[in-house]
Amino acid sequence: MSLSALSHLECSRTGERYDADAVQGVSAAGMPLLARYDIERAARTLTREALVARPATLWRYREMLPVRDPTAVVSLGEGMTPLLPLPRYGARIGVPDLLMKDEGLTPTGTFKARGAAVGVSRAAELGVEGVAMPTNGNAGAAWAVYAARAGLTCLIAMPVAAPAITRTECVAAGAELYLVDGLIGDAGRLIAAAVRERTGYQEVSTLREPYRLEGKKTMGYEIVEQLGWQVPDVILYPAGGGVGLIGIHKALREMQELGWIGERLPRLVAVQAAGCAPIVRAFEAGAEVSEPFPDPATAAFGITVPKALGDFLVLRAVRETGGTAVAVTDEALLAEQRTLARDEGTFICPEGAACLAAARDLRESGFIGAGERVVVLNTGTGLKYPETIPVDVPTLAPGQNVRW
Ligand SMILES: *Cc1c(COP(=O)(O)O)cnc(C)c1O
Repeated sequence: MSLSALSHLECSRTGERYDADAVQGVSAAGMPLLARYDIERAARTLTREALVARPATLWRYREMLPVRDPTAVVSLGEGMTPLLPLPRYGARIGVPDLLMKDEGLTPTGTFKARGAAVGVSRAAELGVEGVAMPTNGNAGAAWAVYAARAGLTCLIAMPVAAPAITRTECVAAGAELYLVDGLIGDAGRLIAAAVRERTGYQEVSTLREPYRLEGKKTMGYEIVEQLGWQVPDVILYPAGGGVGLIGIHKALREMQELGWIGERLPRLVAVQAAGCAPIVRAFEAGAEVSEPFPDPATAAFGITVPKALGDFLVLRAVRETGGTAVAVTDEALLAEQRTLARDEGTFICPEGAACLAAARDLRESGFIGAGERVVVLNTGTGLKYPETIPVDVPTLAPGQNVRW
């Protein structure tokens, strides 16, 4: 029996309705499509009490997910990652009630697996045979492995500068991979041309299909469930395409409709690297959309997105919740990555570390109050970025005499 209460898709710009049971890309206006649900129907079986007995994966919220046939679900055990208190580090930066949603424990080591699990499952359910995407690395790796598990073919293009391990993951999973001597936009043009020429592929770039967002929104459900159905005061998210932040905002709105949380929402903060901060610039300028960011460069490779299709949705979510958008330097984020590992024993990705640098800055500026509960998203494991930590240690010959 289908538990999904998916009813239709809606243009995020015009509100125009689209059929959710056909393969869809963007709206006629070229804008992302948002999945909408029959909340009353979902609420009949999806209750906070019912959740207690459900498995600890993101599929526990299946009424509010788009996959209709339970046997179409392609899973590697994604979701319900820990919400870790950071007491020592929190005290250091003056935010004692600091928590980290640690997506480093997700299959493929980043939260991209959430979007891939739901996106691939739904694509396969609708009869799609192959998926094609440009990526900064992590999304490609995630979609490649989930496509393999679903029996779909997978075509990926990524910048040569993307984290090397993500190439290995794509190749291991049998994806057709191209490296581009350029940026994600160049990879995007290559993929767009490929899907025009070849049949059997759906283009699944960021927000160019509706269901990756549905997978990523589950981070919002989990944070609130893990806090005993309380919302935190602030959530910080490292925004590239912004899907995670748009998703968390969508989940919060849906939980309001379900009657699970009240009027008050957490202030959502979009964090970017100073070397690629189009959304921060737009926020500061009071603009509704961003301008392409010139010559983007940062160690936080997953957020090197000079122009995001969903920029207006990120800006809307930030403004509606009384949040903000801030940029941090690579120097600052790489320093936090090390400090956190030493304080708390967790090796996080540079994108996640950007949120810590931002939390420190926002505490100093007074945006974050001393007693506030703050959640930072660590979107991936540091193991995917070994080059971010220089290792300068002695190598000893066997039996070499060392003066200890
Ligand atoms: C993709 C990615 C991001 C940014 O995600 P968006 O949804 O594009 O904003 C952040 N961190 C990591 C590790 C990523 O791979």
